[in-house]
Amino acid sequence: AKAAGKNIFAFYHTEMTRQARRRLELEEALTTALARKEFVLYYQPVHDVASGRLIGAEALVRWQHPEWGLVSPNEFIPLAEETGQIVEIGARVASEAARQIRAWTELGLEPGVVAINVSSRQLARGHFPAFLRSVIEENGIEGHRLEVELTESSLLALGERTTDLLREIRETGVQLAIDDFGTGYSSLSYLRRFRVDKLKIDRSFVNELQVDGGSLGIVKAVIAMGQAMGLQVQAEGVELDSQLDTLARLGCDSFQGYLRAAPMPAEQFQKLLGASQSQ
Ligand code: C2E
Ligand code: CA
Ligand code: CA
Ligand code: CA
Repeated sequence: AKAAGKNIFAFYHTEMTRQARRRLELEEALTTALARKEFVLYYQPVHDVASGRLIGAEALVRWQHPEWGLVSPNEFIPLAEETGQIVEIGARVASEAARQIRAWTELGLEPGVVAINVSSRQLARGHFPAFLRSVIEENGIEGHRLEVELTESSLLALGERTTDLLREIRETGVQLAIDDFGTGYSSLSYLRRFRVDKLKIDRSFVNELQVDGGSLGIVKAVIAMGQAMGLQVQAEGVELDSQLDTLARLGCDSFQGYLRAAPMPAEQFQKLLGASQSQ
């Protein structure tokens, strides 16, 4: 029995070492990726529910690794948040989105509003609003062309600084959205305190719209609340006509999802912009 116990310990020990080594490798690979500029943005179209018109996009980061191919953010964002590398990655994302908005505008295209995802670690840096302002100015774009998506948990993580930070962000003209709304700690009082422009209904609720009566109730309530507070409501992860029909009936403003389009490279989104304008 004693020998077996020892073996188990040895196993866990090796397993832990293996995981630690893997983590370190990934961290180093991220540093290399930053140096080699391997991060690219994909754009997922956002459409107006009532008219079906293309009104913007969500920019989603991808890691174009020379050997591994296109790596999903789910594979590296959590680690980058832990190591702090998210600050540099996030800065690249914001600059690239702004550069792209400028490029499309110069081509005579109308990109609408482009949303970027921002982690709490980026916000906690303190100079985030100033950083945003410089990105807007350096690229010569209008602030309202950009939208910042924050999760409920990152708003809470910042504690007392949140109200000031959100106000400073909105002063740059950039719009604010609460991402994955309904999955975290949501309360009416904080929505009143933290002024935002948009609520994004999490994909999990949209997903269950046709099977689960509870999700329908939640989606209904979020849309009604958004309307009562003068906020836009956007649904994500719309995959079925039936989901879109329900959202339209409930008065949801905008949506994104595989039903219309998956996230795509910038060139492809640019073609979509061109096509939607020549209609
Ligand atoms: P998110 O912000 O909730 O982004 C939505 C995710 O849902 C995206 O996954 C998108 O591809 C996916 N999606 C969109 N429509 C559908 C649909 O109809 N069905 C299904 N099944 N999925 C759909 P993606 O691009 O893999 O991003 C995953 C997460 O990674 C994001 O979740 C976000 O939390 C994070 N992320 C992505 N880009 C960035 C970034 O630039 N900065 C930070 N901090 N996080 C990012
Ligand atoms: Ca998002
Ligand atoms: Ca989301
Ligand atoms: Ca999500």
